[in-house]
Parts: sequence; C-alpha cells; structure tokens
Amino acid sequence: MFKCSRSCNPVRYQRNNKNLNSIQCCTSKPYQKRNIQVLSRNTKAAFFDRDGVINVDYDYVAKIEELEFVKDVFLALQYVQSKEYDIFIITNQSGVARGFYKETDIQILHTHMDDQFKKKGIEINGYLYCPHHVDATVPEYSKDCNWRKPNPGMIEAIFSLNQYDKNECFLIGDRCSDIMAAKNAGIRGEKFVGGSLLSFVKEKF
Ligand SMILES: [Mg+2]
Ligand SMILES: [Zn+2]
Repeated sequence: MFKCSRSCNPVRYQRNNKNLNSIQCCTSKPYQKRNIQVLSRNTKAAFFDRDGVINVDYDYVAKIEELEFVKDVFLALQYVQSKEYDIFIITNQSGVARGFYKETDIQILHTHMDDQFKKKGIEINGYLYCPHHVDATVPEYSKDCNWRKPNPGMIEAIFSLNQYDKNECFLIGDRCSDIMAAKNAGIRGEKFVGGSLLSFVKEKF
C-alpha cells in the first residue's frame, strides 16, 4: 500500500474570480432555444441599451454596413471597465418579430461589434436581446416577453447568475422603456440623449 506524501498535495489555483455561465434566451419554443454566454468578474454591473447608446439608431440596424458607433463609445466603455464594472449590452430587437431581419443577423452583428471592442481592450460580459413582439408578423416570435424592455427580464437574468450589488449597478438607455426596465429591476437608469458617451458616463457615474 502506497501512502500519499505531504508534498504531493495539488496546488489549487484561484481563477481570478471569473465565472463563465450560460443562460437560456427568452424563447419558449424548443427549436429556438439558444444559450447565451455570460462572463462574470466583478460585483458591479453596467447595462447599456444598444441602438442609440452604443451605435447610432438608424431604425432596425441589423447589418454591419449600417453600424456606426456613437461618439466616444470606446473611451466610455474603457472608463466603465476601469471602474471594475461588468458590462452588458441589452437590446430589444423586435425587427425579428416584424420580419425585417433574422436572429442570425443580430448574432453576426454582435460578433462584429465584439471584435471592435476587443481590439480596444474592452470586454463585453454578455449580449442579450429580445426578438419578440406582441404584434409580430412572424408568428413564432409573437410573445408578450418578459425580456422586452420596459420589462426587467434581461437584467434579472444577469442578476440570477451572479451576486451583484444592485445599489452599484446602472443602466444607460435612450428611451423611457430603458429607464423603466432599470426601475423595474431595481437599479438606477439614466437617459442618454446623444453627444459624447464618455462625457455622459463621467458626469453621471
Ligand atoms: Mg435604444
Ligand atoms: Zn423575448
């Protein structure tokens, strides 16, 4: 019988407090089910609406050619990241329910956006979108969805994964529905009306 010597105890490495989780998207239909990768690092979360905050809102932006980043978006996100926030982009995408584009178009666009962010050293911890609408023209996307802002579903999905301090979390959006979603989730919401996102973030937070 061999006995383990004291020196052979394995060293356990702590992995920098980083958790990779996946959450299930808001669809209830089995063939549409999709997992979203979400990375948690910090105890604070910053939520950004997409159209009108991250990129210029040209109504139903879905193609890479239509993507134009808002002024100072990279500097703003770098700043927020330096303050040790996890960063989430949460976006209503009823263009899918209305038949203007497909979910895969959103995913391609988000991958492209993420490449641009990575080049600037920005880590987005998760991209969440809701493709639903109650008056959908594409029947399988007809749903009064809890993920669609002003409902708090997307924010709550993130909170269910990691223990964030709600008092330290915030959301930036350009519409009342964004601010209501923040309120419904119990966090601070601030309305961005254009200009430099960096100046706005520095002024508010
Ligand atoms: Mg918006
Ligand atoms: Zn939804």
